Amino acid sequence: MNLLEIKDLKVDYTTKSGVSGETKLVHAINGVNLEVKKGEILAIAGESGCGKSTLAKSIMRLVDIKGGEIDYRGDNISNLRSLKDIRHFYQKVQMIFQNPYSSLNPKMKIGAILKEPLIINKKLSSKEMNKIIEEKIGQVGLDKSVLDKYPHEFSGGQRQRIAIARSLILEPELIIADEPVSALDVSIQAQIINLLKDLKKNLDLTFVFISHDLSVIKYISDRVAIMYLGEIVEIGQTSEIFSSPKHPYTQALLSSVPQIGTDENKSAISLAGELPSPENLPPGCKFHTRCSHAVDVCKTTSPQEHEFTPSHKCKCFLYLNENSMI
Ligand code: SF4
Repeated sequence: MNLLEIKDLKVDYTTKSGVSGETKLVHAINGVNLEVKKGEILAIAGESGCGKSTLAKSIMRLVDIKGGEIDYRGDNISNLRSLKDIRHFYQKVQMIFQNPYSSLNPKMKIGAILKEPLIINKKLSSKEMNKIIEEKIGQVGLDKSVLDKYPHEFSGGQRQRIAIARSLILEPELIIADEPVSALDVSIQAQIINLLKDLKKNLDLTFVFISHDLSVIKYISDRVAIMYLGEIVEIGQTSEIFSSPKHPYTQALLSSVPQIGTDENKSAISLAGELPSPENLPPGCKFHTRCSHAVDVCKTTSPQEHEFTPSHKCKCFLYLNENSMI
């Protein structure tokens, strides 16, 4: 069953150039189609600037959508306008941010931070709220003594546990985790990743897990979508993507992941040039400016999706059949 369906999503936003002050239009999401199945961890991977975080914000209704639709449990949530409807949606879908330092109000004690969503969304007695708060803080591996302290009294890993507890307080079905471990020390990352895995299993949660770290993605996710300049260029089961990557961009990303504990000595495929600016998208296949396989048609025409298995798909002219233009 699909919890979330994203159909031909497009998001633009404007930005000001630092030097000239000129306003520029950024094409952040350019026709994303994606389904999130109940109970899975779907990872979104790609370089910084590929549109991963904008996609997360689109799902959370934190940015305006230019085109397309987002359905949650079959209901179009792209047009939610009233505070009441948006609050109702946030009871089911929550977000964990990259930086636990900035996502917790430094002037509030942890108990008050966790109580706030319950006061806004539920009609519960103080005793009932305290029971839920103590249960959630326990589920993230912390003692209830933390409730009387301020965020600055905790380490980065402990703060991220508190942020996770806050995301659980309304008992959501879906959590959007945007680079949830990238601001943490490497030694703490594994603890938080294992906590998210345990929570998914024990609380029957679904995750959209956004990361640039393919080692983390390989460990935690059930499926992976690879994003490039606001498009999904390849999607598949995690095992399919890591054992048989098809898109030249996916192949280049994976070739740079260290192969710990194997004798494999894959040489990294270097990507030519920088990620093009989303203000000036290349025509045709958006990867053609950096692809060593690119031919003329790639420069003018966008490739359609090719299906390798029902779950493994990729957009690249290399895999078109005998009618291929390559
Ligand atoms: Fe490379 Fe062409 Fe495939 Fe794009 S469509 S990834 S440019 S071969």
